[in-house]
Amino acid sequence: MLNIFDSHSHSDNSPDGHHSVTYLCEQAVEKGLMGLCITDHCDIDIYKRDNFELRMINSNFEVRKAQLFFGDRLMLTAGIELGQPLFDPALAERALGLLNYDFVLGSVHVTRGWPDYYEVSYKGRPIEEVNAAMDAYFGEVLETAKKADFDSLAHLTYPIRYISGRDGIEVDLRRWDDLIDEILRTLIARGKGLELNVAGLHNGWGQLCPPKEIFARYRELGGEIVTLGSDSHLAQDLGVGIAEGMEVLQSCGFQYFAFYKKRQARMLGIR
Ligand SMILES: [Zn+2]
Ligand SMILES: [Zn+2]
Repeated sequence: MLNIFDSHSHSDNSPDGHHSVTYLCEQAVEKGLMGLCITDHCDIDIYKRDNFELRMINSNFEVRKAQLFFGDRLMLTAGIELGQPLFDPALAERALGLLNYDFVLGSVHVTRGWPDYYEVSYKGRPIEEVNAAMDAYFGEVLETAKKADFDSLAHLTYPIRYISGRDGIEVDLRRWDDLIDEILRTLIARGKGLELNVAGLHNGWGQLCPPKEIFARYRELGGEIVTLGSDSHLAQDLGVGIAEGMEVLQSCGFQYFAFYKKRQARMLGIR
C-alpha cells in the first residue's frame, strides 16, 4: 500500500468538479490511496452567486455518509477550500462556523481590485503589467496568511499556472523573495501549513505549485507543516503526482507531511 494522502480534491459539489463523493471514494480505494480529503470550493467573493452554502452542506453530508461506508478502507476527511476569505471576513467566519471541518485550505484565486487570473490573458502584455499583477497577488496572500482562519495555504504562486503555464510568459519569482519570505515566516509563526499542489503533474503543465525552491526556503526558515494535494476535479486525477511531490519534499529536507483531522495536523512519514 502506498503512503498516499491527498489533501486537496473536488467533488461535483464544486462548480468545476465532475464526480460524486461516492465515486471519488471508490476510485481512491481502487487506486490504493490511504487518505483523501474532499475540499470543495467555497469562494467568498461569489458566495451567494454560486450558492456555496448549499454546496458546502451537501459536500459535508456526503463525506460524512461516505465515511460510514469507506471508513475501514480509506481515511476520508471533510475539508473546504476557502477562497478569498478577506473579501468578506465576517462571511468567511460564518462559512467556517456552519459545519465541522477536518481541514481548511486557505486560497487566493482573485486579488481584491483585480480581475481573475483565470479570465485574463497575459499574452502580449508588457512585463510591468505582469509584475504589477503578481505584486498585488503576493500582497493579498500575505494579508490572508496574517489574518484568515485556515490550516494550510493552497497553491502559493497560483497565477503562474496561467501566466506561465497557459500564456507562456516566463516570470522570475526572485523579484518577490522578500514578500515570499514574509508569507512563509507568517505561516510558521501562526502554526499554519504550506500546500504542495501537484495539479501541474496531471494537467499537462508539468510544474509544482509552489516550486521546489520555495519549499527549500520554507524548510530553511523552520517550516515543518506541509500538506500535499492533487487538486483533482476528476476521479482519475486523485493522488496523481503525490509520490513525486513527496520525493521533492524529501530532497528539501522534510521527513514528514501533514494530514488533518478535526483541524489538527497529523504528521505522517514520507517514505
Ligand atoms: Zn484553488
Ligand atoms: Zn482546488
